[in-house]
Amino acid sequence: MHSIISGTLLLGFTKLVKCARCNNLTEFQIQQGCVKQELLGIPISTQYCGVTRMCPVCEHGEWLIQRNLFVSEAAEKQVRDLLEGGREKTKSYVLQLSDQERKVVFRRLNKLKAFSLVQYIAS
Ligand SMILES: [Zn+2]
Repeated sequence: MHSIISGTLLLGFTKLVKCARCNNLTEFQIQQGCVKQELLGIPISTQYCGVTRMCPVCEHGEWLIQRNLFVSEAAEKQVRDLLEGGREKTKSYVLQLSDQERKVVFRRLNKLKAFSLVQYIAS
């Protein structure tokens, strides 16, 4: 059977930010949406799309990079800057992932040209 599963990949965290909706001071999650295709339970492809910044308390999300739109250099830079602000929490998150999961996150970060963050995590 052919199935299409959509999900999100957690890329990392921002610095402490006050949420405009719930007023909590918290590290927002930077997430990337993904769509996985499986054939007979075997993964055949994964496509990554939009990036959001989400409050972990009330789950209020904002688009940083919208799916299916041309990705501007400025939008990518905004994502990099946000992750850079929360790099310590992002590092501890990435380091507790399995090797396989870490590779996936590094691949996405490199795609966003977050090379200095990847270096920081790997050092
Ligand atoms: Zn909130």
